[in-house]
Amino acid sequence: MIAMHGRDKEDRFAKVRARMLKWHLEGRNITDPRVLAVMAEVPREEFVPQSYQSQAYADGPLPIGRAQTISQPYIVALMTQELRVNQDYEVLEIGTGSGYQTAVLSKLVKKVYTMERFSVLSESAQAVLNKLGITNVEFYVGDGSCGWPEQRLPPLRRFDRIMITAAVPAIPEPLVEQLVDDGFIMAPVGYGGIQELVVCEKKKDKLFERRICGVRFVQLVGKYSFEE
Ligand code: SAH
Repeated sequence: MIAMHGRDKEDRFAKVRARMLKWHLEGRNITDPRVLAVMAEVPREEFVPQSYQSQAYADGPLPIGRAQTISQPYIVALMTQELRVNQDYEVLEIGTGSGYQTAVLSKLVKKVYTMERFSVLSESAQAVLNKLGITNVEFYVGDGSCGWPEQRLPPLRRFDRIMITAAVPAIPEPLVEQLVDDGFIMAPVGYGGIQELVVCEKKKDKLFERRICGVRFVQLVGKYSFEE
Protein backbone atom coordinates (compact mmCIF):
# COMPACT_ATOMS: atom_id res chain seq x y z
CA MET A 1 0.00 0.00 0.00
CA ILE A 2 1.22 3.50 -0.80
CA ALA A 3 1.38 5.75 2.22
CA MET A 4 -0.77 8.83 1.83
CA HIS A 5 0.24 12.24 3.03
CA GLY A 6 -1.26 15.62 3.72
CA ARG A 7 -3.95 16.70 1.29
CA ASP A 8 -4.48 13.29 -0.35
CA LYS A 9 -5.22 11.80 3.01
CA GLU A 10 -7.51 14.68 4.00
CA ASP A 11 -9.41 14.45 0.70
CA ARG A 12 -9.90 10.72 1.09
CA PHE A 13 -11.22 11.09 4.65
CA ALA A 14 -13.49 13.93 3.54
CA LYS A 15 -14.97 11.62 0.91
CA VAL A 16 -15.69 8.77 3.31
CA ARG A 17 -17.01 11.23 5.87
CA ALA A 18 -19.49 12.54 3.30
CA ARG A 19 -20.52 8.98 2.50
CA MET A 20 -21.05 8.23 6.21
CA LEU A 21 -23.28 11.30 6.45
CA LYS A 22 -25.41 10.25 3.52
CA TRP A 23 -25.82 6.54 4.30
CA HIS A 24 -25.42 6.13 8.04
CA LEU A 25 -26.94 9.37 9.31
CA GLU A 26 -29.28 11.05 6.78
CA GLY A 27 -30.27 7.59 5.56
CA ARG A 28 -31.53 6.84 9.05
CA ASN A 29 -33.30 9.30 11.31
CA ILE A 30 -30.70 12.01 11.82
CA THR A 31 -32.52 15.11 10.60
CA ASP A 32 -31.19 17.97 12.77
CA PRO A 33 -29.19 20.13 10.34
CA ARG A 34 -26.86 21.36 13.12
CA VAL A 35 -25.95 17.80 14.09
CA LEU A 36 -25.38 16.83 10.46
CA ALA A 37 -23.18 19.89 9.91
CA VAL A 38 -21.01 19.08 12.92
CA MET A 39 -20.71 15.40 12.00
CA ALA A 40 -19.56 16.57 8.55
CA GLU A 41 -16.92 18.74 10.13
CA VAL A 42 -15.32 16.74 12.98
CA PRO A 43 -12.56 14.41 11.71
CA ARG A 44 -13.32 11.06 13.39
CA GLU A 45 -10.04 9.65 12.03
CA GLU A 46 -8.17 11.84 14.55
CA PHE A 47 -9.87 10.05 17.45
CA VAL A 48 -9.06 6.44 16.55
CA PRO A 49 -5.71 4.66 16.90
CA GLN A 50 -3.51 4.82 13.78
CA SER A 51 -4.09 1.14 13.01
CA TYR A 52 -7.87 1.70 12.76
CA GLN A 53 -7.79 4.95 10.79
CA SER A 54 -8.86 3.31 7.54
CA GLN A 55 -12.04 2.17 9.36
CA ALA A 56 -12.72 5.55 10.95
CA TYR A 57 -16.01 5.98 9.06
CA ALA A 58 -17.25 2.40 9.27
CA ASP A 59 -20.71 1.94 10.76
CA GLY A 60 -19.64 0.65 14.17
CA PRO A 61 -17.61 1.23 17.34
CA LEU A 62 -13.80 0.84 17.35
CA PRO A 63 -11.30 0.02 20.13
CA ILE A 64 -9.43 2.99 21.69
CA GLY A 65 -7.37 1.13 24.33
CA ARG A 66 -8.03 0.15 27.95
CA ALA A 67 -10.80 -2.19 26.65
CA GLN A 68 -12.89 0.91 25.80
CA THR A 69 -14.46 1.94 22.50
CA ILE A 70 -15.28 5.02 20.45
CA SER A 71 -19.02 4.90 19.75
CA GLN A 72 -20.59 4.19 16.37
CA PRO A 73 -21.01 7.50 14.46
CA TYR A 74 -24.76 6.98 14.12
CA ILE A 75 -25.14 6.60 17.90
CA VAL A 76 -23.06 9.75 18.51
CA ALA A 77 -25.30 11.66 16.09
CA LEU A 78 -28.49 10.20 17.57
CA MET A 79 -27.48 10.97 21.17
CA THR A 80 -26.46 14.51 20.21
CA GLN A 81 -29.74 15.07 18.38
CA GLU A 82 -31.90 13.66 21.19
CA LEU A 83 -30.11 15.72 23.87
CA ARG A 84 -31.62 18.84 22.21
CA VAL A 85 -28.82 21.26 23.01
CA ASN A 86 -28.30 24.91 22.17
CA GLN A 87 -25.45 27.42 22.13
CA ASP A 88 -26.22 28.70 25.65
CA TYR A 89 -25.95 25.34 27.38
CA GLU A 90 -23.34 23.97 29.74
CA VAL A 91 -23.18 20.21 29.28
CA LEU A 92 -21.66 17.50 31.44
CA GLU A 93 -20.40 14.40 29.66
CA ILE A 94 -19.50 11.25 31.60
CA GLY A 95 -17.03 8.95 29.77
CA THR A 96 -14.70 11.11 27.66
CA GLY A 97 -13.15 8.07 25.98
CA SER A 98 -11.64 9.16 22.66
CA GLY A 99 -13.14 12.65 22.98
CA TYR A 100 -15.09 12.33 19.71
CA GLN A 101 -18.52 12.84 21.30
CA THR A 102 -16.98 15.66 23.37
CA ALA A 103 -15.77 17.40 20.20
CA VAL A 104 -19.17 17.02 18.51
CA LEU A 105 -20.97 18.47 21.55
CA SER A 106 -18.45 21.30 21.96
CA LYS A 107 -19.45 22.76 18.59
CA LEU A 108 -23.13 22.99 19.56
CA VAL A 109 -23.02 24.31 23.14
CA LYS A 110 -21.33 26.99 25.23
CA LYS A 111 -19.19 24.64 27.27
CA VAL A 112 -18.60 20.92 27.81
CA TYR A 113 -17.37 19.48 31.11
CA THR A 114 -16.16 15.94 30.55
CA MET A 115 -15.10 13.22 33.01
CA GLU A 116 -13.07 10.08 32.34
CA ARG A 117 -11.86 7.32 34.65
CA PHE A 118 -8.60 6.60 32.79
CA SER A 119 -6.07 9.44 32.66
CA VAL A 120 -4.41 8.10 29.49
CA LEU A 121 -7.71 8.36 27.60
CA SER A 122 -8.45 11.82 29.00
CA GLU A 123 -4.97 13.02 28.06
CA SER A 124 -5.11 11.75 24.50
CA ALA A 125 -8.60 13.22 24.07
CA GLN A 126 -7.26 16.57 25.32
CA ALA A 127 -4.39 16.42 22.83
CA VAL A 128 -6.75 15.80 19.89
CA LEU A 129 -9.14 18.58 20.91
CA ASN A 130 -6.19 20.97 21.30
CA LYS A 131 -4.98 20.04 17.84
CA LEU A 132 -8.45 20.78 16.45
CA GLY A 133 -8.45 24.18 18.18
CA ILE A 134 -11.39 23.37 20.48
CA THR A 135 -11.17 25.51 23.63
CA ASN A 136 -14.59 25.30 25.33
CA VAL A 137 -14.03 21.96 27.06
CA GLU A 138 -12.93 21.24 30.63
CA PHE A 139 -11.52 17.78 31.40
CA TYR A 140 -11.47 15.97 34.70
CA VAL A 141 -10.11 12.54 35.59
CA GLY A 142 -12.29 10.81 38.16
CA ASP A 143 -15.42 8.77 38.84
CA GLY A 144 -18.17 10.39 36.81
CA SER A 145 -20.93 8.51 38.65
CA CYS A 146 -20.25 10.88 41.59
CA GLY A 147 -20.75 13.96 39.40
CA TRP A 148 -18.50 16.91 38.60
CA PRO A 149 -16.38 17.84 41.68
CA GLU A 150 -18.31 20.34 43.83
CA GLN A 151 -15.42 22.79 44.15
CA ARG A 152 -15.08 23.02 40.35
CA LEU A 153 -18.75 23.41 39.48
CA PRO A 154 -19.59 26.20 36.98
CA PRO A 155 -21.05 29.47 38.38
CA LEU A 156 -24.67 28.33 38.18
CA ARG A 157 -23.70 25.02 39.84
CA ARG A 158 -26.00 22.95 37.61
CA PHE A 159 -25.78 21.58 34.07
CA ASP A 160 -28.39 22.14 31.37
CA ARG A 161 -27.78 18.70 29.91
CA ILE A 162 -25.92 15.57 31.03
CA MET A 163 -24.85 12.79 28.68
CA ILE A 164 -23.52 9.49 30.03
CA THR A 165 -21.66 7.53 27.36
CA ALA A 166 -21.27 4.26 29.28
CA ALA A 167 -23.88 1.80 30.56
CA VAL A 168 -25.38 2.40 34.01
CA PRO A 169 -27.71 0.13 36.06
CA ALA A 170 -29.81 3.24 36.79
CA ILE A 171 -29.25 7.01 36.46
CA PRO A 172 -26.74 7.89 39.25
CA GLU A 173 -28.37 10.11 41.89
CA PRO A 174 -25.45 12.63 42.20
CA LEU A 175 -25.85 13.39 38.49
CA VAL A 176 -29.58 14.05 38.86
CA GLU A 177 -28.70 16.55 41.60
CA GLN A 178 -26.32 18.41 39.26
CA LEU A 179 -28.98 18.79 36.55
CA VAL A 180 -31.14 21.94 36.26
CA ASP A 181 -34.88 21.65 36.58
CA ASP A 182 -36.35 21.00 33.10
CA GLY A 183 -32.92 19.62 32.09
CA PHE A 184 -32.32 16.37 30.21
CA ILE A 185 -30.04 13.53 31.25
CA MET A 186 -29.29 10.73 28.82
CA ALA A 187 -27.77 7.29 29.37
CA PRO A 188 -27.69 3.69 28.19
CA VAL A 189 -29.47 1.92 31.06
CA GLY A 190 -29.34 -1.82 31.70
CA TYR A 191 -27.46 -4.74 33.15
CA GLY A 192 -26.81 -7.01 30.19
CA GLY A 193 -24.73 -6.62 27.05
CA ILE A 194 -27.55 -4.60 25.52
CA GLN A 195 -29.02 -1.53 27.16
CA GLU A 196 -31.88 0.85 26.51
CA LEU A 197 -30.83 4.37 25.58
CA VAL A 198 -33.05 6.69 27.59
CA VAL A 199 -33.43 10.43 27.90
CA CYS A 200 -35.00 11.72 31.11
CA GLU A 201 -36.44 15.14 31.76
CA LYS A 202 -36.11 16.45 35.33
CA LYS A 203 -39.28 18.06 36.65
CA LYS A 204 -39.39 19.08 40.32
CA ASP A 205 -36.76 16.48 41.24
CA LYS A 206 -38.55 13.67 39.40
CA LEU A 207 -37.33 12.09 36.18
CA PHE A 208 -39.63 11.45 33.24
CA GLU A 209 -38.14 8.88 30.92
CA ARG A 210 -38.33 8.47 27.15
CA ARG A 211 -36.82 5.39 25.53
CA ILE A 212 -34.91 5.84 22.31
CA CYS A 213 -33.50 2.48 21.21
CA GLY A 214 -31.42 -0.52 22.17
CA VAL A 215 -27.65 0.13 22.35
CA ARG A 216 -24.46 -1.65 23.35
CA PHE A 217 -22.04 0.32 25.55
CA VAL A 218 -19.16 -0.55 27.88
CA GLN A 219 -20.04 -0.23 31.56
CA LEU A 220 -19.63 2.85 33.71
CA VAL A 221 -17.56 1.60 36.63
CA GLY A 222 -18.01 3.67 39.77
CA LYS A 223 -19.48 4.25 43.19
CA TYR A 224 -23.02 4.95 41.88
CA SER A 225 -22.80 2.51 38.96
CA PHE A 226 -21.29 -0.93 38.27
CA GLU A 227 -18.57 -2.41 40.46
CA GLU A 228 -15.11 -3.05 39.03
N1 SAH B 1 -17.95 8.99 24.24
C1 SAH B 1 -16.83 8.11 24.05
C2 SAH B 1 -17.21 6.68 24.38
C3 SAH B 1 -16.43 6.24 25.51
S1 SAH B 1 -16.71 4.60 26.08
C4 SAH B 1 -16.28 8.20 22.65
O1 SAH B 1 -16.99 8.68 21.75
O2 SAH B 1 -15.13 7.81 22.44
C5 SAH B 1 -17.04 4.95 27.79
C6 SAH B 1 -15.95 5.62 28.55
O3 SAH B 1 -16.39 5.74 29.90
C7 SAH B 1 -14.64 4.84 28.61
O4 SAH B 1 -13.60 5.64 28.16
C8 SAH B 1 -14.49 4.50 30.09
O5 SAH B 1 -13.15 4.48 30.54
C9 SAH B 1 -15.27 5.62 30.75
N2 SAH B 1 -15.72 5.34 32.11
C10 SAH B 1 -16.11 4.17 32.67
N3 SAH B 1 -16.46 4.34 33.94
C11 SAH B 1 -16.30 5.66 34.23
C12 SAH B 1 -16.53 6.48 35.37
N4 SAH B 1 -17.02 5.99 36.52
N5 SAH B 1 -16.25 7.79 35.28
C13 SAH B 1 -15.78 8.34 34.14
N6 SAH B 1 -15.57 7.62 33.02
C14 SAH B 1 -15.82 6.31 33.05
